[in-house]
Amino acid sequence: MPVAFPFSAIVAQEEMKLAILIAATDQSIGGVLVFGDRGTGKSTAIRALAALLPPMRVVDKCAYNCDPDAPEGGLCEKCREHKASGHNFKVRKAPVPVVDLPLGATEDRVIGALDLESALTRGEKAFEPGLLARAHRGFLYIDEANLLEDHLVDALLDVAASGENVVEREGLSVRHPARFVLVGSGNPEEGELRPQLLDRFGLSVEVTTPQDLKSRMKVVRLRDEFERDPPAFIDKWKRKDAKIRRQILSAKERLADVDVPDATLQRASELCLKLGTDGLRGELTLIRAARALAALEGDEAVGDEHLKRVAPPALRHRLRRNVLDDAGSTTRVERAVEELFGE
Ligand SMILES: [Zn+2]
Repeated sequence: MPVAFPFSAIVAQEEMKLAILIAATDQSIGGVLVFGDRGTGKSTAIRALAALLPPMRVVDKCAYNCDPDAPEGGLCEKCREHKASGHNFKVRKAPVPVVDLPLGATEDRVIGALDLESALTRGEKAFEPGLLARAHRGFLYIDEANLLEDHLVDALLDVAASGENVVEREGLSVRHPARFVLVGSGNPEEGELRPQLLDRFGLSVEVTTPQDLKSRMKVVRLRDEFERDPPAFIDKWKRKDAKIRRQILSAKERLADVDVPDATLQRASELCLKLGTDGLRGELTLIRAARALAALEGDEAVGDEHLKRVAPPALRHRLRRNVLDDAGSTTRVERAVEELFGE
């Protein structure tokens, strides 16, 4: 496996880094959509984050990376049986997976399908797990999500939201845990996602190649240094990466205790009303993202500062096109934040 570039050595791209940290802290936020040009390091950041997370405890020989410490309902059928009987229930360590979903992947490959070989040779109806099984407890990365067929994106978002993959076809009836952070990249120039699908991604961020000389030079210098001697480079950044690891782990632990005062809820609703976002998903994501941010920063309650910072990534992809307003969605969110919170 190729070594990952250290997360802490990624220059600029602050919004993307923050969005990934937030999604990793609270998976219920529902994934991140990254818009940007090619070569802006979209997948680098995901791989970097997965690499700095501590290895997971998994049940040995389980195709789904089941968590041995999960309650019964969080285990696959085989692991449930093995745990109850006490046989074949060994634990090993595995790195947090990052699974790439290639363009043109079939539904069978993604969701899983009937294992034809065992069906034909042994007459058994076995399930061949798909990419969703491999992504359990990690990250699923879709390059160019906007070029994927709608029904596949739909299915992926369903599984990401429920944390479970249910396959009922070809005489199969299989359900297995599949909780992952969905990260989709999109190129704004190549086809658009339907608004209904857009709205189901928790956060969306825009990345660009840095436009200032200093940042560009820094990106090139660090990349060059990494590629000449990866182990030495990783060693140099490992303390900073360890700090981020501790930050995520403690944020996850403290998340449930972070207070969301009524005043903050009211602010979130006012902001969504002002922007005219459909439904309540905007508010819910806004609050969850703000709470994860508060947890990451060690704050005990969610306040205006947190809301302001997560408003663009939580809301910009939920705005309806306004024919009287040709400002970009980021500008519209920032303007509404400014009007509401005052600056
Ligand atoms: Zn299992």
